[in-house]
Amino acid sequence: RAKELGGGRVEVFATQMHAAVVRRLELGSDLQRALAEREFTVEFQPVVELESGRVAGVEALLRWRREDVAVPPEEFIGAAEESGLIVPLGAWMLGEACREAARWRAEGWQIGLSVNLTARQIAAPKFAETVAEALAESGLPPHALTLEVREEVLVEHFQGDEQHLARLSALRDLGVRLAIDDFGTGYASLAYLGQLPVDVLKIDPSFVSGVGRDETLTLLTRTIVRLGAELGLTVVAEGIECADQLERLREMGCARGQGFLVARPMPAERIDAEVRPGGDGSGVPVRAQAG
Ligand code: C2E
Ligand code: MG
Ligand code: MG
Ligand code: MG
Repeated sequence: RAKELGGGRVEVFATQMHAAVVRRLELGSDLQRALAEREFTVEFQPVVELESGRVAGVEALLRWRREDVAVPPEEFIGAAEESGLIVPLGAWMLGEACREAARWRAEGWQIGLSVNLTARQIAAPKFAETVAEALAESGLPPHALTLEVREEVLVEHFQGDEQHLARLSALRDLGVRLAIDDFGTGYASLAYLGQLPVDVLKIDPSFVSGVGRDETLTLLTRTIVRLGAELGLTVVAEGIECADQLERLREMGCARGQGFLVARPMPAERIDAEVRPGGDGSGVPVRAQAG
């Protein structure tokens, strides 16, 4: 196989790649069954307002336990993206997440919901309809839903493509909000950033983790916070793991944050039991969770 690819030089590389490719194929062929047998679950990670500590929303994250072992989302979402199964899987996920969020709101807890999207979901012919259906069926108001797209995906698949830009705008026309996820890792040009129909900018943990520890990363984070504010975006810092980072981000004027310091992703029942004591969640100072 290595020879076919062009000689002995690539042999070591090919061997390493082989294991990853085999694993992907294996996962890919198992995803359909897993979806049919309802092996996927959804967890929610709180997002807080840094100034008040109030829980502003939750980010929904897919989980898959396969033969009792948790498969990392990066792996199975990549495989689902390649096979196209991400379209039905993502639609199921969106429906589940909207239902939970609508329930919380109906119970008087006015939080927002974020759901992640891949390129293939956005490019699917009826994606805007899928979103509209999830909203209608759950009763979640559109403005309470934020759809997150990674910066890299926006750059690779959508930059300079009018048709794709129109798709994003069509989503926004439903009244939902759009977020750039993992900002700072995808090299969107600043001119492009200004054109995008987005409302929220999520700073990648690779910047946040350096806040207060690395001068350059601290400076870059401050610059991103200012840039986002100048563009009128809600800025969210992702991957906050220590109190010093949170304090510095707050001082920088970063509006929101999420990370293990605040709370880990957890099933809806634990959000009910731990994040929302008293049942309204207002002003609840979310603290580091053990699980
Ligand atoms: P993301 O959208 O950037 O989600 C945040 C990820 O960071 C989550 O990983 C979360 O568990 C993790 N995280 C949160 N706080 C901290 C922290 O303080 N420290 C560290 N080290 N990590 C933190 P997770 O759940 O493993 O998901 C990884 C990625 O997989 C997500 O990154 C997202 O891109 C993708 N993903 C997850 N669920 C879905 C989904 O339903 N649809 C799509 N399209 N992608 C998803
Ligand atoms: Mg995200
Ligand atoms: Mg992210
Ligand atoms: Mg990520």
